[in-house]
Amino acid sequence: MRSARLLSLSLIFCLSISAFAQRSNTPAQPPRAAAKATAAAPTITLAVDASEAPRKIFHAKMNIPASPGPLVLYYPKWIPGEHGPTGPVVDTAGLKFTAAGQTLAWQRDGVDMYTYHLTVPAGATSVEVNMDYMSPVESSGFSAGSSATAQMAVVSWNWLVLYPKGFNSDDIQVRASLKLPAGWKYGTALPVANNAAESVSFAPASLTTLIDSPVIMGAHFSVVPLQQGQNPPHEMDIAADSEAALQMPPELKQAYNNLVAEAGALYGARHYRDYHFLLSLSDHVAHFGLEHHESNDSRLPERYMVDDHLRLLGASLEPHEYTHSWNGKYRRPAGLATPEYETPMQGQLLWVYEGLTEYFGYVLTARSGLWTPDQFREQMANIAMQYTYRPGRQWRPLEDTATAAQILYGASPAWTSWRRSVDYYDEGALIWLEADTIIRQQTGNKKSMDDFAHLFLGPPSTGPIVKPYTFDDIVNALNQVAPYDWRKFLTDRIINVAPQPPLNGIINGGYRLVYTDTPNEITKAVEEERDFMDAASSIGILVTKDGTIQDTIHGGLAATAGIGPGMKLVAVNGRKFSFDVFRDALKATTSSKEPLQLLVENTEYYKTYSLDYHDGVRYPNLVRDTTKPALIDDIIKPKVTTPPTTSPSATQ
Ligand SMILES: [Zn+2]
Repeated sequence: MRSARLLSLSLIFCLSISAFAQRSNTPAQPPRAAAKATAAAPTITLAVDASEAPRKIFHAKMNIPASPGPLVLYYPKWIPGEHGPTGPVVDTAGLKFTAAGQTLAWQRDGVDMYTYHLTVPAGATSVEVNMDYMSPVESSGFSAGSSATAQMAVVSWNWLVLYPKGFNSDDIQVRASLKLPAGWKYGTALPVANNAAESVSFAPASLTTLIDSPVIMGAHFSVVPLQQGQNPPHEMDIAADSEAALQMPPELKQAYNNLVAEAGALYGARHYRDYHFLLSLSDHVAHFGLEHHESNDSRLPERYMVDDHLRLLGASLEPHEYTHSWNGKYRRPAGLATPEYETPMQGQLLWVYEGLTEYFGYVLTARSGLWTPDQFREQMANIAMQYTYRPGRQWRPLEDTATAAQILYGASPAWTSWRRSVDYYDEGALIWLEADTIIRQQTGNKKSMDDFAHLFLGPPSTGPIVKPYTFDDIVNALNQVAPYDWRKFLTDRIINVAPQPPLNGIINGGYRLVYTDTPNEITKAVEEERDFMDAASSIGILVTKDGTIQDTIHGGLAATAGIGPGMKLVAVNGRKFSFDVFRDALKATTSSKEPLQLLVENTEYYKTYSLDYHDGVRYPNLVRDTTKPALIDDIIKPKVTTPPTTSPSATQ
């Protein structure tokens, strides 16, 4: 998964090993196959009516086989890929249970809000359930966030289903059907049984597969086949808020074709029957990406495909979510491979699940031509700066940001530098870049993380199965690729407090991180499109276009002077704040002996702060270090495709 926050700042931005080992776990981790099945797993019938999607309300009618006596039903709580208890039970309404012609009394569990208790009357063989789901109006959050507009919607089945206690989601079967708004088209990885006008019947599938297979639908809809004629099939199913937004430029189509081919070359196998890139283009849905085994639910601004800056900022989303089919869905940390949606997940290994996905996602973005080589290096420079100015690393190990994922996704951006955030994404990417350069150094550039990808995520090709892994499995696989003290390498950077940022991948890769007064293309796009300026490396503030100080670098110049997050930068050297005024004033500090004067508002009080700062504006960039081989350039070379001659992003 990738959150809106990772996307918006991204620049600054969602399993080994034998058939037998698949189901075994260490004692601390929840076993995947743990249900005490005393009865045959049921087949649930689920009819979803999405015809009122533009009103943001969805109706479900279920038939759940049941025997007379007490019955416990669960609403899905821990949503795969969201790494937390994010099931939107608060947005359900109209709950009604009937059996044998009677309306049943029900009670929510006093402790677990996702559990319902009822009693099935004598003579009944099943329970009918009616339930509505109201999609939020605010465009924030993940799959429980805004998902419907006047013109399109994404249906996540976990909103609309209850299931009985005592069974693994792999064993429960669901016969689902879906009614669409008149005239809308749809796309999904869920196999279809029958396609009638505006109503679709799906083939019976496990509850796992159903919840893993959302449906995208809309009035403006296009299907773009990728690597046409090859098996397994791939397609991009795009729903947009306008017909104009669906016009995919040829160079972008070529890059997505390349992405499918380059991923095949990187991993050497595929673990899906077919693959659907479900792409929502709207300014009124939550922006994020959520991985699934045979599809991904990626949501970007309406004009993503037709605006250069938006394309540059959104380029790495599909490669990230697609990579999760291998890393996250097929191979999954044992603590995240839970038997159903009620068992809590444990995220300690998210620096592999998300960090390695971030790394391979960036590499594939460059190899496929969605980014130019320069843009890949710009992204590395930007995240290197971000994690250089992250003093929270002085107290908090990277692993703890993964363990605490379920609370950190919802944390305020204020105080991120001191609290840390979901740092296992991009700090993880820097650590995996370093691992790649070490493997290349150890083997005379004959082996690389590509070999790890083949060994750990690759052959043989399978359907969508889950193979859990542990920390030891990662260490062992790295040692199989290139012997090295990988346990110490990972322990020093991830398990222990690591005060120094992991920049060795850049250095080993033949580049140096430098600060200049020129923003790179990605930084420029972030400032202009995201209305966000990162001055962490100069006076230590992150500020939005209206002057709101989102965060201060703990221990930095501004913080030490008394400035904190939530305050507002009103004027710089006596002139009203804007990015241009601020940038020019920072530049001028190199030739001025005067302090930088900042007028700041704090809860209706104004104060001027004088900062004795003379190092100018400092934007991160990578420059070539010719004393070392350019391993970074080798890493991002396409393996099987020719990148588009015109860059699909940032053409002027
Ligand atoms: Zn992810």
